[in-house]
Amino acid sequence: MNAPFEGTLFVVAAPSGAGKSTLVNALLEREPGISLSVSHTTRPPRQGETYGRHYYFVERAEFEREIAEGIFLEHAEVHGNLYGTSRTTVQQLLGQGRDVLLEIDWQGARQIRRSKPDCVSVFILPPSRAELERRLRGRGSDSTEVIERRLRNSRGEIAHAHEFDYILVNDVFDEALAGLQTIVQAVRLRSALQLQRHEALIAELLAAGA
Ligand code: GDP
Ligand code: ADP
Ligand code: 5GP
Repeated sequence: MNAPFEGTLFVVAAPSGAGKSTLVNALLEREPGISLSVSHTTRPPRQGETYGRHYYFVERAEFEREIAEGIFLEHAEVHGNLYGTSRTTVQQLLGQGRDVLLEIDWQGARQIRRSKPDCVSVFILPPSRAELERRLRGRGSDSTEVIERRLRNSRGEIAHAHEFDYILVNDVFDEALAGLQTIVQAVRLRSALQLQRHEALIAELLAAGA
C-alpha cells in the first residue's frame, strides 16, 4: 500500500563527543516511526561497531567509485575520513511515509538543505569545552591523536550551528532528549501535514448541515 505522503527528513549534527549518537539512539527507542540512515564511511570500525548497523565500512577506493556512480545523496570528508548517505535508502524510506534521521556533519547538512529544503535540522552543543573533552576522552573509543583532532575540528563544526533550524544544549541528558522529542512532535503537528492526515475530518467538519 502506498503511503499518502512522504516522511520528514531530520538532520542532526554536532561536534564529535557532544552526545549526538547517544541522544539519537534514545530518541529512536521512543519514536519507532523514525528510521536512522546508516552511512558509508572509510573510517575504521571502533570496538563494538558492526558493518551495516553503525556504518557500511568501505575502502577509500570503493567509496570514491561510489561517489562517481552518484549513489550518495550527500558526502563529505570529516576528520580525515569520507562519509556519505545512500540516496536510494533514504528515498525509499521517505516514499513509504517513514521519517528518516541523518547523523551527519555540517557540510552534509548543507548539501541536504539544497536538495531537500523541507528537511528539519538540529545542532547539538556540549555544555562547555571542558565537558566536550571529558566526554570524548571518557567514551574511550578513539586514540589520543584522533581525540585531539576531533577537539581541534569542533570549532569549525560549531561555527555552523546558526545554519540549523534548532539548537539543543546537551547538558542534562534527559532534558536534551525531551527537547529532541519535542522538536519531532512539533514537526509532526505542522499544519501542512495535519491537513493531509485529517482531510476527511476537516471535510466533515466543514460540510453543510445541522
Ligand atoms: P562521532 O562524531 O563521534 O559521532 O563520530 P563518527 O565517526 O561517527 O562521525 C564523524 C563525523 O562524520 C560526524 O560529524 C558525523 O556527523 C559525520 N558523518 C557521519 N555519517 C555521515 C554521512 O553519511 N555524511 C556526512 N556528511 N557526514 C557524516
Ligand atoms: P557523538 O555521537 O556526538 O560523538 P556520543 O553520543 O558518542 O557523542 O557521546 C559521547 C560520550 O558522552 C558518550 O560516552 C556518552 O555516553 C556521553 N554523554 C552523552 N550525553 C551526555 C550527557 N548529557 N551527560 C554526560 N555524558 C553524556
Ligand atoms: P564518527 O567517526 O565519530 O562516527 O563520526 C564523525 C563525524 O562524521 C560525525 O560528525 C558524524 O556526524 C559524521 N558523519 C557520520 N556519517 C556521516 C555521513 O553519512 N555524512 C556526513 N556528511 N557526515 C557523517
